Amino acid sequence: SEEITAIVRRLTYNEQGLIPTVVQEERTDKVLMVAYMNEESLRRTLTDGETWFYSRSRQELWHKGGTSGHTQQVVSIATDCDADTLLVRVKADGPACHTGAESCFYDTLLPADGEAEGPHVLADLARRIEATRHTHSETSYTEYLLRTGIDKIGKKIGEESAEVIIAAKNGNKQEIVAESADLLYHLAVLWEDRGVTLQDVMAELSRRSHKQGNKKEVGHLDKTF
Ligand code: AMP
Ligand code: ZN
Ligand code: ZN
Ligand code: ZN
Repeated sequence: SEEITAIVRRLTYNEQGLIPTVVQEERTDKVLMVAYMNEESLRRTLTDGETWFYSRSRQELWHKGGTSGHTQQVVSIATDCDADTLLVRVKADGPACHTGAESCFYDTLLPADGEAEGPHVLADLARRIEATRHTHSETSYTEYLLRTGIDKIGKKIGEESAEVIIAAKNGNKQEIVAESADLLYHLAVLWEDRGVTLQDVMAELSRRSHKQGNKKEVGHLDKTF
């Protein structure tokens, strides 16, 4: 159609007639993969509603999921500022990577192993919460919680726990992440209120994981941490 031709003509392709295409999962904003399209694969993507690329190694059009079955339903297509890169938002029907990973970008180079975002983020949070005891800011939510006390903090932890469960049942990863962060934050405020430190909790977890046979009864299960 003329509309498709207009879209295809608006773009800048490299010397090989290709345009790099970032594929993003619409439900989570996760970047899934990067591949090349050419004019023909873009046309097919626009008419078919599923992603088509151009394989440089095989020098042929490639329907994503054609052999694996893991197709990608196109939700939207955007170009970058100079129209030489595409961003395709999709609903992916299975892993994007031929390794079976959800995203091709599972290999973190930076931050390097060991300095990846980890418990130190929680330690920083605990320090900031502790610091609000001395700042007295009228607009600080943390200070409001600490001023109001354990009943309010406890109620919030109940609410946030329920929201984690709801998010988990909805199956939306980003929502689970957000609600878990809310829960951990309020738990850290409770620790501050009760004079418990992150180190106390970590030491307890560490004792459990190192001590053989330290089991906590959970219903009929012997749950070892
Ligand atoms: P599929 O399109 O999922 O049926 O996979 C068909 C072939 O395309 C695979 O054997 C790979 O050669 C290639 N392929 C699939 N997904 C990717 C990807 N994310 N990045 C690079 N090559 C891929
Ligand atoms: Zn720009
Ligand atoms: Zn660009
Ligand atoms: Zn991959």
